[in-house]
Amino acid sequence: MKIALVGIGKIALDQHVPALAASADWELVATVSRHGQVPGVEAFASIGAMLEARPDVEAVSLCLPPVPRFEAAAAALRAGRHVMLEKPPGATLAEVHALEALAGERGLTLFATWHSRMAHAVAAAKGWLAGRQVLSGRITWREDVRKWHPGQDWVFEPGGMGVFDPGINALSILTEILPVPVHLTGAELEVPANRQAPIAARLAFTGGISADFDWRQEGPQTWDIELQTDAGPMALRLGGNVLEIDGKRAEGIESIMGEYPALYARMAALVRAGASDVDLSPMVLVADAFTLGRRRTAEPFAF
Ligand code: NAP
Repeated sequence: MKIALVGIGKIALDQHVPALAASADWELVATVSRHGQVPGVEAFASIGAMLEARPDVEAVSLCLPPVPRFEAAAAALRAGRHVMLEKPPGATLAEVHALEALAGERGLTLFATWHSRMAHAVAAAKGWLAGRQVLSGRITWREDVRKWHPGQDWVFEPGGMGVFDPGINALSILTEILPVPVHLTGAELEVPANRQAPIAARLAFTGGISADFDWRQEGPQTWDIELQTDAGPMALRLGGNVLEIDGKRAEGIESIMGEYPALYARMAALVRAGASDVDLSPMVLVADAFTLGRRRTAEPFAF
């Protein structure tokens, strides 16, 4: 099936382009970006021009930041194309509901992806937790924004979500693996004095689960989910790629490179089945953190 990539920036080049090149399901035939291009692939500067010129493109994968994504997604759906959304699927919950309705009316696939759910050990963690009781838990998601989002000022603009841009990956795993859903009960957000979105957040959930997100960690990066259960401790480390049971490695490999191939395989299966997959539960937790969160002003931040 022919696909177009929209928003040729860091994640498109790091992950989407290699995943599509290796895919038996997809052929990348067009890109849409004002500055970015993929060698050998027809490039357009606007999605409208691409949709008009390439009626053969069946699906569009959007790698834009969340704020400009809705208009592009709606245009693609109105033009009868299946749509795949990077995470987080939009800037607001309501706009993703609108896209879901549009896709449903037109019989098109909408896939709101969560790449961290495709990490190597997430399915095994979910299987191990099924039927067990989670007594408490702690998420530690600490990384260096300068390393992962160099110069990307949009992450600190309204709708950019700040530290929830990576933090929502942890929440996408949490909402996938827990046998009983949780909801947010409190939050503290640290917002740099010169920015609009938090650089750090501490969250509390029902079920004794807490989260510590911080974008100021230099050196080793930490992406851990540690849970105490009625069958002992388990941990997912390296962003869901390694599972530990009782402190011993049970599953996984130390690589994130399988996540995007798995997303594109799932997108192909959804299109063939005439189905959509739009789970907004991680984004609900983030929206609730912005609703309930107590704000603290942090040091000004510059890239
Ligand atoms: P990025 O490098 O800033 O790329 C996004 C591209 O979108 C830009 O290069 C830009 O290309 C285009 N764009 C269109 N409108 C824009 C606007 N108003 N502001 C900024 N860019 C605009 O961002 P990214 O890191 O690839 O992230 C994109 C999405 O992928 C985000 O939702 C992010 O959460 C997700 N993601 C990122 C990572 C990561 O490691 N960075 C990992 C997983 C997922 P043109 O200027 O050429 O139009």
